Amino acid sequence: MTTSPLFYQAGPALPEVSHADGVYLWDEHGNEYLDGCSGAIACNLGHGRTDIRDAMVAQLDRVAFTYRTQFENAPAVALAEALVELTDGALEKVFFVSSGSEAVESALKLARQYFVATGQPQRRRFVSLRPSYHGSTLGALGVTGYQPLEAPFADITSASLKVPGPDFYRHTDADDASHVERVLAETRAAIEAADPGAIIAFVLEPVGGASTGARMLDRRYLEGIRALCDEFGCLLILDEVLTGIGRTGTWFAYQHYGVTPDLLTTAKGLGAGYYPVGAVLAREHIVNAVMESGGFQHGHTYAGNPLACATGLAVLEAIRRERLLANVAERGRRLEAGLKALQARFPWMGDVRGLGLLWGVELVADPRTRTPFPAAENQFARMTALAKEEGLLIYPRRTLDGLAGDHFLVTPPLTIDAQDL
Ligand code: PLP
Repeated sequence: MTTSPLFYQAGPALPEVSHADGVYLWDEHGNEYLDGCSGAIACNLGHGRTDIRDAMVAQLDRVAFTYRTQFENAPAVALAEALVELTDGALEKVFFVSSGSEAVESALKLARQYFVATGQPQRRRFVSLRPSYHGSTLGALGVTGYQPLEAPFADITSASLKVPGPDFYRHTDADDASHVERVLAETRAAIEAADPGAIIAFVLEPVGGASTGARMLDRRYLEGIRALCDEFGCLLILDEVLTGIGRTGTWFAYQHYGVTPDLLTTAKGLGAGYYPVGAVLAREHIVNAVMESGGFQHGHTYAGNPLACATGLAVLEAIRRERLLANVAERGRRLEAGLKALQARFPWMGDVRGLGLLWGVELVADPRTRTPFPAAENQFARMTALAKEEGLLIYPRRTLDGLAGDHFLVTPPLTIDAQDL
């Protein structure tokens, strides 16, 4: 046991961070680390940026905090308008929060309130994927498909209907198209068995994040889910907490697929590690129905405060000014090529998948049979520890659902240059 009063995680004591600059961090002993995962896929512009600091200080000097029911504030209005514009106006309304879990929680509640407001209170369930990760608060955990996190709370969350998504690494169907077709047919059957009239929304990450090692969906699948939602009269919530704000090379990952959600969540990269800020974006008719029925019965104290929104604005401005979406696309291609070259040398890198600067590597004991390593070997933790010893931070996980094994994410800041990459 450590003597620290903090209790974030079991395991060995961590080195204390000293300072950071660009894509590098240094610990108290002077060891240098390349931030290969942007912390928790959040510090997307790198560390120590004076432009973000200056924008924050300017806002601090004006006013740091106001409460959303007492004052309108200019940074919040400007950031909301900017986010709407990033969706080309497809999602017209914005509700600010301070984290990804709060964003998901808010989207779930907004969707439920929409159906209460429009005379369909019998809709009280969500559908989501297994594996998936949507956050740690009880509502967001209810739609999360990740056994180790769910288990202690299974009796007290209103767990969603969990269905498998496509698995392009392990499926045994004739080809990817017939695999997607089969997964969609099984999803339809599961929803029909559960009662489509009881479903509020389908919740999913357009590219899998931490819980799946960047497992990919594809256009056919997303179009199929959109069509199912339309047919069954439920909403589509895309969770872009991790994929949003440029991580995959477009402002939002859904823009690669041309499938527009009814609600979208985003967080991590919006504050880029400088201040917690997240948002729910929603179609206007959903928000209007809720507002006309008496308002959204929800909110968090720090949501949409001037300092949070000034930070978000500075982040968006930096991404535009430095043309970081193009950098993500270019560096992403290089990262893919580099990881695949390593895979050719190390066959235990069973699958390398991703988009933009969101890449996952799945580790397997036998690449021919795609057999995961035995859980007790903790290969994902060994891999992360080895990388850290070499001065590289990566983001590890194991999926324990019998669907995938050990994996890690490589998700450097969107600002990374050719040499550091
Ligand atoms: N949704 C997704 C897709 C995430 O990746 C995460 C965090 O990893 C969350 C929600 C929860 O975000 P937060 O940790 O900010 O509460």
